[in-house]
Amino acid sequence: MATQIKNKQTNFSKRKPNDLHDFLEISSTLTLEERTNGFMKFIEGLQAKHQYTYKRRVLTPADRTVEIWDEYENKNRSMLMFASNNYLALANHPHVKKKVKEAIDEYGVGIGGPPLLNGYSKLMVELEERLARLKHKEAAMIFPTGYSTNLGLIGGLAADNDVIIFDHYSHASFYDGLRFTHARTLTFEHNDMIDLEAKLKEASADLKGDLYVGVEGVYSMDGDLAPLDKIIPLLKKYNAILLLDDAHGTGVMGKTGSGTAEHFGLSDQVDVSMGTFSKTFAVTGGFVAASKEVINYLRFFARSYMFSASLPPMTLAAVLAGLDVIENEPEIKKQLLEVRDYAIEKLGKFGFYRKPDAAILALKIPDNMDIRKANFEIHQKGVFLNAIEYPAVAEHEERFRISLMARHTKEDIDQLTTVLEEVFANKSNYHE
Ligand code: PMP
Repeated sequence: MATQIKNKQTNFSKRKPNDLHDFLEISSTLTLEERTNGFMKFIEGLQAKHQYTYKRRVLTPADRTVEIWDEYENKNRSMLMFASNNYLALANHPHVKKKVKEAIDEYGVGIGGPPLLNGYSKLMVELEERLARLKHKEAAMIFPTGYSTNLGLIGGLAADNDVIIFDHYSHASFYDGLRFTHARTLTFEHNDMIDLEAKLKEASADLKGDLYVGVEGVYSMDGDLAPLDKIIPLLKKYNAILLLDDAHGTGVMGKTGSGTAEHFGLSDQVDVSMGTFSKTFAVTGGFVAASKEVINYLRFFARSYMFSASLPPMTLAAVLAGLDVIENEPEIKKQLLEVRDYAIEKLGKFGFYRKPDAAILALKIPDNMDIRKANFEIHQKGVFLNAIEYPAVAEHEERFRISLMARHTKEDIDQLTTVLEEVFANKSNYHE
């Protein structure tokens, strides 16, 4: 056994030490012990080389600056935060905190069951109604997470004879949701309307059930928008049902914060709208808004809804209070968009993967940059952002992902720009 592991470990490091690609290639041939030990060594190897910037321990509220525990220096340090999707800074907003405290006093901390049984609370009903209004739909339902929303939505709606066409850049939760259905699936190239129409034609040719098209309002890894003004008319032509994941558009896009459909003036044209509470609302949870018939059906057929406990009162209260802030303080969204425009102006020279239309910027890195090394230097210089590595994105598309908050200042963006200039100029951050 020991020799076997040793041989496999030699394989593991055949390309270059600590190459995750190699590990993934051989992992299906390894036993659990070999896999977990091998992966532990992989992570320890990164830590030893100071190339591990995951799981950084955050000690203070998500804000433009945070205090973290630096495990390399064994001390607390202040960082400029560009990794949180707390776009409207609701995580630490006084009104939200007040409402959450009141909810705990009134309802306690939990309800101890799923919505269909004992877990359908007054706050949940109130929030469903407000979300339905926000999305211009008849009804809404609330799931424990955004991830489980997509699993339940796809697994619950799509029947065996249906076809689901979806953008190749869809979130992992959409891909994972497809595992819960026997429907036929087809992908189209990211935002490519010619390819989408080709797939709609292909699927329509011998369609026996319904046709769905899944897109994201704001793409999570690139920050660009789905061109709903082109997609919606195309879907009408083929009688397809639109499933819109607006995790990153809700609260940020559109005049009232309704989301990406509102941005395109098409608020009432989305068949099934999905969103999360983990971005703009800065807590956890997800929702679907649709016709009352679809929602009623999903309550019984979405397994991640049916078999999972309800969100606690404080989370529901936080989202309700977040909606109050979105309605009553529109200037916060305005500030976010101003910061976003300034960041585009300052960081444009590095190049973006796509035109940033919301509050996410995906910064290109040169082909030969060692992203882990570069991100550690960014960390050392006091900036907290996410390096998005393979397999989260294709190997040649690794990038720095910057999430903006309304509370960021122009000085914060200037500091980020200076740090990135220094890191990009440092030759030691490149492979030979
Ligand atoms: N959809 C998209 C587009 C997302 O970006 C995410 C989260 N990154 C999810 C769904 C899952 O949401 P959550 O993190 O709230 O579970």
